[in-house]
Amino acid sequence: MKRFTVFCLALGCITGLYAQTKEIDPAYSKFEQLGTALPTPNNYRSASGAPGPQYWQQRADYDIKAELDDNNRRITGAETITYYNNSPDELGYLWLQLDQNLFDKESNTLKTQTGTLNNSVSFNAMSFVTRSQFDGGFKITAVKDKSGNKLTHIINKTMMRVNLPQPLRPGQKFIFSVEWNYNINDMQKIRGRSGYEFFPADGNCTYTIAQWFPRMAVYDDVWGWQHKQFLGQGEFALTFGNYKVALTVPDDHIVGATGNLMNEKQVLTSTQIQRLKEAETAKNPVVIVNQQEATEAEKKKSTGKKTWIFQAENVRDFAWCSSRRYIWDAKLCDVEGAKVWAMSYYPKEGNPLWGQYSTRAVEHTLKSYSKRTVAYPYPKAISVHWIGNGGGMEYPMICFNGGRPEADGTYSAQTKYGMIGVIIHEVGHNFFPMIVNSDERQWSWMDEGLNSFCQYLAEQEWERGYPSWNGEPYQIVSYMRSSKETLVPIMTNSEQVLQFGPNAYDKPATALNILRETVIGRELFDIAFKEYATRWAFKHPHPADFFRSMEDATGVDLDWFWRGWFYGIDPVEVSLEDVNYYKINSQNPDVEKPLAKADADSKPKTISQQRNAEEIKKTLVDDNPELNDFYNSYNPYQITPEDKAQFDSYYKNLTPEEKKLIESGLHFYTLKLKNNGGLISPVIVKMEFEDGTEKIETYPAEIWRLNSKEISKVIFTDKPVKQFTLDPYLQTADIDTENNYFPRKPEASRFQLFKQQGNRPKNPMQQAQKASGQQK
Ligand SMILES: [Zn+2]
Repeated sequence: MKRFTVFCLALGCITGLYAQTKEIDPAYSKFEQLGTALPTPNNYRSASGAPGPQYWQQRADYDIKAELDDNNRRITGAETITYYNNSPDELGYLWLQLDQNLFDKESNTLKTQTGTLNNSVSFNAMSFVTRSQFDGGFKITAVKDKSGNKLTHIINKTMMRVNLPQPLRPGQKFIFSVEWNYNINDMQKIRGRSGYEFFPADGNCTYTIAQWFPRMAVYDDVWGWQHKQFLGQGEFALTFGNYKVALTVPDDHIVGATGNLMNEKQVLTSTQIQRLKEAETAKNPVVIVNQQEATEAEKKKSTGKKTWIFQAENVRDFAWCSSRRYIWDAKLCDVEGAKVWAMSYYPKEGNPLWGQYSTRAVEHTLKSYSKRTVAYPYPKAISVHWIGNGGGMEYPMICFNGGRPEADGTYSAQTKYGMIGVIIHEVGHNFFPMIVNSDERQWSWMDEGLNSFCQYLAEQEWERGYPSWNGEPYQIVSYMRSSKETLVPIMTNSEQVLQFGPNAYDKPATALNILRETVIGRELFDIAFKEYATRWAFKHPHPADFFRSMEDATGVDLDWFWRGWFYGIDPVEVSLEDVNYYKINSQNPDVEKPLAKADADSKPKTISQQRNAEEIKKTLVDDNPELNDFYNSYNPYQITPEDKAQFDSYYKNLTPEEKKLIESGLHFYTLKLKNNGGLISPVIVKMEFEDGTEKIETYPAEIWRLNSKEISKVIFTDKPVKQFTLDPYLQTADIDTENNYFPRKPEASRFQLFKQQGNRPKNPMQQAQKASGQQK
């Protein structure tokens, strides 16, 4: 503790922030407005982040007829596309996406794949061999105008340019058709976002079908045509439109798809229709096709055909599933006052998990997301079980999800929560990017990040303590600590993102959670997030529209936050370097002199002083008293009349407020903070007082605005502080918390001693069943 003297007029400097100007610090660059990093607002996109007064977007309607050839695992289709040019530009040609060409032998995905070999290689790592031998990719057999005249077209890998006979002027539409076929990939050998899974026991497949027809590329005011090649990581940019799709499949197949089923009576049995009727009012999901019925169909393998007709309005894509192996359950739910079907399709291998949780997870997701974004606008949402790669894949109203129990029906906690989590995530994608239709080919975070953030919130509402795989700031720490060569900013093109999961999902989700909990606060954040979703529902937002909307609706300048979290790779690492303790020197000799004496007396005697006291029996002055003078008897701690007079004259001139401060007994601390990480962060300080109570102070990020590397902050309290802790509740993703304490506290880690690696119990449910003799 030190005692300081208060000068008149000097009060400002003890409560204020010290501007430290020792060296030039680039703090200004961390807090500079994003300026030219964002596109200039215009009539299409406003400075507020809302769509501008002349915002426009294209539209494409599809009429598709397709057949699934179950014997050859092949799809043949024909589509008529009506393309509406709502842009102010004349178009001489159109671009379509041919995503199946990812599986073409000549695909750039294979050609640009890099890798190496060593002495031991997994079969998975060798999938490029299988892939280069698979006859995949679209065979485009016709491209014609509405009168049946051939249209010239050029296929450029995963994109197709269709030349128009004459330019398509603003406000005009163009009707044309495409015919195609392709071989479906075996998901167990060639992973993809769609494909089939073959079940050797009964010789049947489940089909999860997507990116299965040539789809219109997006033409917008930001990029023009978004026709960046599909290499596999960056997803899709798609135009909204209406769909009518007729799917011909084996007549014992059950089909789930985007949109409403239009010919229920032709494709469903009267029992199934009756069960659907029950599901309209049931409290729990009703099984429409049960396991026994599915197992029967697996054995019979009917050879007839049936055509299922679906219609969907204002969707950006269409996907479906088909199999005789499917169990199907459904429940009609109330979502923000609208009736929405929640449905699941799964083979028996998914049970018991799927029957118990899938449709419930669909319903929960629709409700949770609708509350935070926009009310779910579509008539249904489907979760389909697939082998996938354990993960999932999303399309409007339908998604494919992993999570399969063991053959004996037991499962690990990871399988259970992973499955519920992936269903919440993929159903959640209905909101980002199916409704808030961002450009996934360019920005993965705009759908994955925003969706993962909402997923975390929905999971926490599912079950207290739900083991979410991201969302909490401490969960991003290991990624933020990784070496700089493996880090890219969130604002990186989808196909170039390194550490894809942490970068595109976890980091933006965490950043949003930090914004909500620590920077903006829940109430304002939630209003702004909903505002963004409402503004951009059924439209095509870009990053600036999100950044601007969040600032516009909250009144919080977040440019430093976007700059650090989205455009940078630095982590948060703030250290509480030092704390100095002060009290006010009252200048009253009755108070200060005894204190000064006590202070002097409390100083330890040095080792020489201690030894000299013993060893030097008599000093020179002891033997020669004539050497004494005034100073040999002077007591500097003695209170003199002069001291008193001086204090009286000082005190007499103080104002009542100044006297109050001097007599307040306040405790002052200067906290020296160092920003070792570079990423700007609010500073949260917990003070534990000597009397056992505690207090938290939160200082906004702007505390760093004059010096982003090192600052000092003065805090005063009316009780002495025993312990200071930075970020006590892990709000900031600080990558080193050991230096967050003053006085320092070692953080204990527990290490295990082992003789050899033991097998951890993976599936406690199975072990418990074995132990109780339930095991089949
Ligand atoms: Zn996702």
